[in-house]
Amino acid sequence: MDHFDYVDGVLHAEDVPLPAIAAQVGTPVYVYSRATLTRHARVFRDALSILPSVRIAFAVKSNPNLAVLKVLAAEGYGADVVSGGELERALAAGMDPDGVVFSGVGKTAAELERALLAGIGQFNLESEEEGLELAEIAVRLGKTARCALRVNPDVDAGTHGKISTGKAENKFGVPFDRAGAIYARLAQTPGLSMRALALHIGSQLSRLEPLEAAFTKVGGLMRDIRAAGHAVTHMDLGGGVGVPYKAGDVFPQPDEYAAMVQRVTRDWDVTLMFEPGRVITGNTGVLVTEVVRVKEGVGSPWVVVDAAMNDLARPALYDAWHDFAAVAPRGPRMTANIVGPICESSDTFAMARDIDAVERGDLAVFRTAGAYGATMANTYNSRPLVPEVMVDGAKWAVVADRIDPATILAAERVPEWLA
Ligand SMILES: *Cc1c(COP(=O)(O)O)cnc(C)c1O
Repeated sequence: MDHFDYVDGVLHAEDVPLPAIAAQVGTPVYVYSRATLTRHARVFRDALSILPSVRIAFAVKSNPNLAVLKVLAAEGYGADVVSGGELERALAAGMDPDGVVFSGVGKTAAELERALLAGIGQFNLESEEEGLELAEIAVRLGKTARCALRVNPDVDAGTHGKISTGKAENKFGVPFDRAGAIYARLAQTPGLSMRALALHIGSQLSRLEPLEAAFTKVGGLMRDIRAAGHAVTHMDLGGGVGVPYKAGDVFPQPDEYAAMVQRVTRDWDVTLMFEPGRVITGNTGVLVTEVVRVKEGVGSPWVVVDAAMNDLARPALYDAWHDFAAVAPRGPRMTANIVGPICESSDTFAMARDIDAVERGDLAVFRTAGAYGATMANTYNSRPLVPEVMVDGAKWAVVADRIDPATILAAERVPEWLA
């Protein structure tokens, strides 16, 4: 459910017609609906309220925009961060450091120190080596780092290979059969307070079974660790719940997910932690684009739009589907290939797709672009960095400026010996 609907034949974000935004900000532009964001945050949180003790840390990487983080902070969300940059964003948005979880296999010494000084709630350690390095820093600073050990449960998430993270061959977490021994060693290391196991098996999961299998497996490990005399007071179940990108796709609903978690964790006696990203932000955004021209093709015509793989990378990276719709459809349909202007064949959003018939100058949207959209944007082909807008009822504001190629060029230098 979202708040992008047609009113008198024109697509609106809440009460704002998208052409009004395009006229002032230009295209391409991401448009987020605050009402949709709030709704998704509440639906997920309310679904989990059947569980006894819950902390939710929004996966910042899915949409790190400051205004988005502000909205989620107000809904009581913490943050799952994977870099020093994301940590600074979460703090800048006013998120309580205690609700911040730091994940990732490559946290540097400087990042670990900064996060310790900021007083974050939990470090999700991805190796014994990382734990020992963090312990040294904590002892030097006179701090104690609250930690989870991320375990690789060796479960196939059944999603795209590039967003699978829970198979033994993936780089994430420690091997399942070594986790007990590593936890025990780290639990005895000064500077660390081991309190949890963590897992995250992948993103855009369409079924609950792999999650259930992974949770069950890690629950068994938790019992073994407790039996060996170590405390486990928290369990971090990660993110990964998928969203429908295509009309007709059926995905697990938050209440089904919560019921499954309740069933598996009934006797765990822990605070459960969650790291949702896509399921919160996916539906909250569209990417508005303008048709540059329609070019004749061998099979279908090419609809060349002014958005490209640098603005929305998911189709090029993961063969992902985004619904495409005209902002003011005239009625007829066409079969077309939708592509951007970048000089790569991977700059393709859709092939032989049945779409609203469009012409040069028409506005259109790629839907469900609120997660892993603007956050992955870059300036390839010396294109601008795409701007972002947030709508709230009849109000709207630019929440990230377009960064022009001239600004980027100004940061480059020609060395004297080339001049
Ligand atoms: C990416 C990521 C998430 C969020 O994944 P979604 O599929 O967006 O819910 C959660 N936890 C970790 C550790 C991640 O890397």
